[in-house]
Amino acid sequence: MSNRILVTGGAGFLGSHLCEYLLAEGNEVICLDNFGSGHRDNMAQFADHPSFTISDRNVRIPGSLPSVDQIYHLASRASPADFTDFPVNIALANTQGTRRLLDHARACDARMVFASTSEVYGDPKVHPQPETYTGNVNIRGIRGCYDESKRFGETLTVAYKRKYNIDARTIRIFNTYGPRMRPNDGRVVPTFVTQALQGDDLTIYGDGEQTRSFCYVDDLVEGLTSLMRINDPEHYVYNIGNENERTIKELAHEVLDLTKTNSNISYEPLPQDDPSQRRPDITRAKTELDWEPKVPLRDGLKQTISYFESVV
Ligand code: NAD
Ligand code: UDP
Repeated sequence: MSNRILVTGGAGFLGSHLCEYLLAEGNEVICLDNFGSGHRDNMAQFADHPSFTISDRNVRIPGSLPSVDQIYHLASRASPADFTDFPVNIALANTQGTRRLLDHARACDARMVFASTSEVYGDPKVHPQPETYTGNVNIRGIRGCYDESKRFGETLTVAYKRKYNIDARTIRIFNTYGPRMRPNDGRVVPTFVTQALQGDDLTIYGDGEQTRSFCYVDDLVEGLTSLMRINDPEHYVYNIGNENERTIKELAHEVLDLTKTNSNISYEPLPQDDPSQRRPDITRAKTELDWEPKVPLRDGLKQTISYFESVV
């Protein structure tokens, strides 16, 4: 069945892959984005699609929104490198922006998915992290504008569901990478790949023993759309990510190996509140959404490196 779908943040990394997927499925897609960290180049492959329109707007500024069947709310800068320069913008995209979209979902009886994050678990004391873990977030720390606003965005979706019985779901996305990340995004995969391709040192923060579990973008889009598709889910929040946990040092060596560069590794201070470990428990998504990631890190990195070779 074809749907009319609003994707906020559709010009960004994940959003552009989502728009492309939804258009290929035969839907009409409206992308709302203020082009802060997103770019028109990300949409080059489908910008002229007859079922695609772009609305250049800030998600938190009031104004009429198109009547739709589904809403994916992805609009928010996501790189820790942006937390210093854009804390208010980030906090409001996930709170005021989420409120606007929940009101809109209620008004047009749309199903909505809110893009939350593994960062709601903060520096986790439970490992791996199931959806039931309530997290360990420093609300006043440098990452608080992001972590805590995502937590409140989740709270708001639950409140609207309880009070108005709207169909709002939440996805907690764990570190996802792939083509169309910005070379200067600041997140670790685009940073290491760009450094390797330019022959610069790969900058490991701290001792590199901290872990993350990296999910390829195609797997993420499958999980995200599965969550939107399912009728009457048993739960309304799902971890989506890859269980394959790596140290940042291992990631650096993988990138060095795949790019065959002469780059070295240099060590820089660990940023404040940088989580020491992260791995999703995806039992719920496996059993209820019938979803699990398929792309091994090495294959995903090869795709990503080949994209970055064309842009840096
Ligand atoms: P991104 O920076 O590439 O995309 C974010 C998009 O939102 C950009 O196009 C940006 O211009 C737009 N945007 C930001 N603030 C806006 C505003 N106020 N109004 C309108 N548009 C705005 O980042 P991404 O990695 O694609 O992340 C997309 C979403 O997924 C975010 O909500 C992020 O928190 C969430 N997420 C991503 C990851 C990941 O690993 N990529 C992990 C957890 C959560
Ligand atoms: N990181 C790093 N070098 C970089 C960028 C990031 O060592 O140039 C580390 C960072 O300190 C963190 C991990 O890589 O421990 C993942 O960072 P990213 O910003 O990609 O995501 P997040 O911290 O939000 O998981």
